[in-house]
Amino acid sequence: MINTVIFGPPGAGKGTQSDKLIQKYGFIHISTGDLFRWHTKNDTPLGKKVKEIMNSGALVPDDITIAMLKEELDKNPNAKGFLFDGFPRTVPQAEALDRFMKENGTAIHHVIALDVTEQEVRGRIAKRRNTENRVDDEEEKLNKRISEYFGKTIHVLPFYKEQKRLNTVDGIGNIDDIFKSICKVIDA
Ligand code: AMP
Repeated sequence: MINTVIFGPPGAGKGTQSDKLIQKYGFIHISTGDLFRWHTKNDTPLGKKVKEIMNSGALVPDDITIAMLKEELDKNPNAKGFLFDGFPRTVPQAEALDRFMKENGTAIHHVIALDVTEQEVRGRIAKRRNTENRVDDEEEKLNKRISEYFGKTIHVLPFYKEQKRLNTVDGIGNIDDIFKSICKVIDA
C-alpha cells in the first residue's frame, strides 16, 4: 500500500495532477474539499454544518474534518493506496492522519508539495471562475482561502520536512512535465 499526500495552495493544480495519479497508480482519491462539496450539495446534516464556513473560504474545524476523513478511510479497507488531496491542512490533521495510517499498519509514504507562487495561483483561479462556477472561487472568498493556505496550511510543511518526508515539485509549467516530476518522487 502506497499512500501519498499532495499539497499546494488553491489553484496549484492538485485536482489535475490527482486525476493523472489515480489513473496511473490506482489510488483511492480522498479530496476533503470534494467530500465537503458533496455534503453541501446534497444538504446532509454535515453539509448544513459546514456550508457557511466553506462559502466564506475559511477552514472547517479539525474535529469535523478529521471525523469525515476517518469515515472515508473506513469505507475503503482494501485500498491499494490513498491519495490525499486537500488534507491535512493543519498539524493536528497531519498527526491524525499518521495515527490512522499506523492503526492500519501502514504510513504516509510520500508528501508532495506543488510549489506555485501566489500570483500564478490568482491568475489560474480567475480563469477557473469562468468555467467551474465554484462559489468559493469568488474574489473575497478566494482571498480568504489563499490566506488560510499561507497562514495555516503552510505550517504543515515543516512538520513533514523535519521528518524528511517532504518533496517539493515545481508546480509552474507544462502539466505533463509536472506530472513526470511527481511520478519520479513516487517511483523513487
Ligand atoms: P478545496 O477544494 O480543497 O480547496 O476545499 C474547499 C473548502 O473545503 C476549503 O476552503 C475549506 O472550507 C474546506 N476544506 C477542505 N479540506 C479541508 C481541510 N483539510 N481542513 C479544513 N477545511 C477543509
